[in-house]
Amino acid sequence: MNDIFDKVGKTLSETGKVVGEKARMAGDFAKLNARIISSERSISDTYYVLGKYYYDTCKDKPDEEIAEAVNGITASLEAIVEMKAQLRALKGVILCASCGVDSPMENNYCGKCGAFIEKPKKEEFEGEIVDEGASEEIIVDEPIV
Ligand SMILES: [Zn+2]
Repeated sequence: MNDIFDKVGKTLSETGKVVGEKARMAGDFAKLNARIISSERSISDTYYVLGKYYYDTCKDKPDEEIAEAVNGITASLEAIVEMKAQLRALKGVILCASCGVDSPMENNYCGKCGAFIEKPKKEEFEGEIVDEGASEEIIVDEPIV
């Protein structure tokens, strides 16, 4: 009888060891996966910094192999400026060139900094809204490092 309990005890103990080992391995997998993801994010952020540096320093004369990408960024940035102007026109606000805050279109002076607001010519606000892949998200902010 004791023999049976010994065998059952041994089996449970071995099963426990296997379960413990599997749990430890799962923990190791999770830790390694988290470290891999973290390293990949870090590389991605660094690529962004390098790309932004290259863009800022070489956008006017990019290497031929990368000119299409550089010019694509320039075109997107210009399109964003235009779309923001269209948004302001739709909202009935105007950008203060001095402090960068929007004020109601009818104001002659900025509500925040008091600077004179130069009104654009009327035709600048009456262009058609051009939809160039408006569903695509364009991120121009600095990455969170
Ligand atoms: Zn202002």
